[in-house]
Amino acid sequence: MSILAHRDYHAHQTFDAEVVVVGTGAGGAVAGAELAEAGRDVLFVEEGGYHPTSSLNPYLTESIPRLYRDAGATMIMGRPPIPYAEGRCVGGSTLVNGGMTWRAPERVLKEWQDLTGQPDLGSKALAPFFDRVEERIHAKPQHPVSVGEDSRLLEEGARRLGWRYEHNRRAQDRCVGSNQCLTGCPTGAKQSTLLSYMPRALSFGARCLTQVRVHELWIERGRCVGVIGKAVNPRTRRCDIDVRVRSKVVVISCGAVQTPYLLLRHRLGRRNSQLGKNFLCHPNAKVVAIYPFDLHAWQGVSQGGQIREFLEEGVVMAENAVPPGTAAAQIPVLGEEALEMMRHYNRMAMTGVLVEDSHAGTVTRGFDAPLARYSINAYDHERFLRGVRLLATLHFEMGAKQVVLPFSNMHIANSVDDLRQIEQTQRSRSTIELFTVHLMGTCRMGSDRRSSVVNLRGELWDLPGCYVADASLFPTAVGVNPQVTIMALATMVAQRVEVPN
Ligand SMILES: Cc1cc2nc3c(=O)[nH]c(=O)nc-3n(C[C@H](O)[C@H](O)[C@H](O)COP(=O)(O)OP(=O)(O)OC[C@H]3O[C@@H](n4cnc5c(N)ncnc54)[C@H](O)[C@@H]3O)c2cc1C
Ligand code: SF4
Repeated sequence: MSILAHRDYHAHQTFDAEVVVVGTGAGGAVAGAELAEAGRDVLFVEEGGYHPTSSLNPYLTESIPRLYRDAGATMIMGRPPIPYAEGRCVGGSTLVNGGMTWRAPERVLKEWQDLTGQPDLGSKALAPFFDRVEERIHAKPQHPVSVGEDSRLLEEGARRLGWRYEHNRRAQDRCVGSNQCLTGCPTGAKQSTLLSYMPRALSFGARCLTQVRVHELWIERGRCVGVIGKAVNPRTRRCDIDVRVRSKVVVISCGAVQTPYLLLRHRLGRRNSQLGKNFLCHPNAKVVAIYPFDLHAWQGVSQGGQIREFLEEGVVMAENAVPPGTAAAQIPVLGEEALEMMRHYNRMAMTGVLVEDSHAGTVTRGFDAPLARYSINAYDHERFLRGVRLLATLHFEMGAKQVVLPFSNMHIANSVDDLRQIEQTQRSRSTIELFTVHLMGTCRMGSDRRSSVVNLRGELWDLPGCYVADASLFPTAVGVNPQVTIMALATMVAQRVEVPN
């Protein structure tokens, strides 16, 4: 059998493989599939469960704890604290993501090339990897009928204000715009790695151990020769059966928080202390507008396009309609007031401002869990205030009656005039409410062992046989949705993995 689950494991079981890949998200699935296709005997180890398309549904109380780590509400500590969500299932975060597929901008790749002093991370060298990935995940524009009224409204608002708006390309094949991407696509249209790279890997003979959390690396004579974990009981969430995998090469793809957490257990990266540093997260601020007419934002794909007028300043704006349960949890009022606001759900345009990080936080090992720390700096705070003001202005221009702002001391604006108070009331960085779904950068790739964690092949400088292929490789923030850039780097790493005889 190629996919195993908790019920299939016996005490102290050891599996053998040429390459073990930990994680099946954007990085892991791609690296494993490429290696399997190249003829390697690949074994994936994934902490989450396998949930086929037929089991995916929009019921939040069932789907969120099943598909997301910590039910999608882990916290980054700092000023302000920032909740983040990541997938924990076969497919990783790609199973629950919005499917947007933007390549890292030219400016960012130029910076990576300059930082590493090598062409490997430049746009020319990465272009074939992007092409390959985009073909495999069917990255293409949406059919117009799958785009919702809220997207059209944002596009029209941008046009009126003379701002650049670009339609999204998404990883999808025949998307009908049901807007259920965040609980897993029930039609099989979204090309998460569950439906793209994982079946490809399995068709080339790869196997997958699901419901196993890797706790440590297996290291012998200074070389990584496997991983050690425990099966996770899906009912109790207790780790109860030992599972080991012995391999010639290990690829870690647990995401930018869990990967450094795992590696730090072994006190790796001590020479330059870079492991777990450079934690980047593209913080987001929500701006929800209430219109005097129905928008039915739940009809149509979650994001038809993005306002890219301010991309060079590191600011992107987009709509992102979430289900009523999620919206209710995020509105800033309680009781009767909340009920009254939610009565307008059909009239809401749920939009947000993403800011490209200008500085970084850290991930360290806390008590039995990773500890992510990150505070926004004055420059990023200023860009948020400007971005929120501009986006709220667009909504008033389009006829919104009210705009719900992401500030704990200023929830509502009823007119453009109210927005003038933002500068005076928002001097503190603690009053802005942010969230994120893009975690990056904690094992940065480089050509100099003094300033990076892995080399340009993706191998740890101080642990031969151990590679990283996920979002933690990014040297800096990409400023756009990161999945295809992660996939391109994972393809490159897979092609550079050296498997000893
Ligand atoms: C709600 C949401 C919406 C998003 N929308 C978009 C979008 O539209 N476009 C875009 O480009 N990006 C989007 N992203 C971000 C994108 O999905 C992620 O950046 C990307 O998937 C990260 O890839 P990764 O390989 O680093 O980690 P992941 O894809 O998160 O995969 C990591 C995997 O490793 C597993 N794992 C972790 N630790 C262990 C362990 N110790 N043992 C075994 N397994 C382990 C996890 O269970 C998980 O399956 C979104 C993310 C979310 C959460
Ligand atoms: S909008 Fe609906 S059909 Fe389209 S990818 Fe998302 S969940 Fe699937």
